[in-house]
Amino acid sequence: MLRFDILTLFPEAFTGYFSQSILRRAQEQKLIQINIYNLRDFAADKHKTVDDRPYGGGAGMILKIEPIFRGLVHILRKSKNIQEKERKIILLSPKGKLFDQTLAKKLAKLKQIILICGHYEGVDERVKKFVDLEISVGKYVLTGGELPAMIIIDATSRLVEGVIKKESLEEESFSKSLDYLEYPQYTRPEVFDPKKIIKTTKGLPKKFQKMRPQKVPKVLLSGHHQRIKEWRKKHSKS
Ligand code: SAM
Repeated sequence: MLRFDILTLFPEAFTGYFSQSILRRAQEQKLIQINIYNLRDFAADKHKTVDDRPYGGGAGMILKIEPIFRGLVHILRKSKNIQEKERKIILLSPKGKLFDQTLAKKLAKLKQIILICGHYEGVDERVKKFVDLEISVGKYVLTGGELPAMIIIDATSRLVEGVIKKESLEEESFSKSLDYLEYPQYTRPEVFDPKKIIKTTKGLPKKFQKMRPQKVPKVLLSGHHQRIKEWRKKHSKS
């Protein structure tokens, strides 16, 4: 089982996403476990302060190191049975290593992933002493580490054995290399005619107005496995 522990100021941000579809099933089947901790619970003062102004001045607030440290120690003590080499402590940060399928595959082999979600202007730099890895989900700045944590948990969980059927993972994009892209897929109907659905395309964007009936490539309807395999190979990218 792969266990995720998330340290965040906004625990509610996660609940909807993780309680649906494949991730919900994976948790029910005990293939993954997701624990969410409110950073505020690790604040020591009566006001539950978790952030403060940056030294040297400047805009915004910085998440303080003490609540993050206390939270990390709490999580580590609760998961003492996990060996160090089976765990990664990750700080979500736009300055981190760019997340991709190769990294997701590596993470999926672990037993525990602890995710620290920054917010506001980020976290006190000294937090980095306690983390194994800083991960960015793209070259843009988000409001907080909550969406990046969800992205990492989602992409990594799919690769944990039993979460998704092996066959589904074999040919999907990035499965063979980071350049590999899966072939196009179709389902019923064999012919899609927009005019059967709407009487007029008036007022719709040009693309919709020009749309003719679209057919599924014949070979996919042929039942000829070898030809289908060849077509799919030709139409995937690597
Ligand atoms: N002041 C920081 C900077 O310029 O690099 C940006 C802080 S950002 C507004 C607040 C938090 O959101 C970060 O601490 C991080 O946890 C998260 N975050 C924002 N963009 C991210 C990204 N592309 N990848 C991962 N985490 C990100």
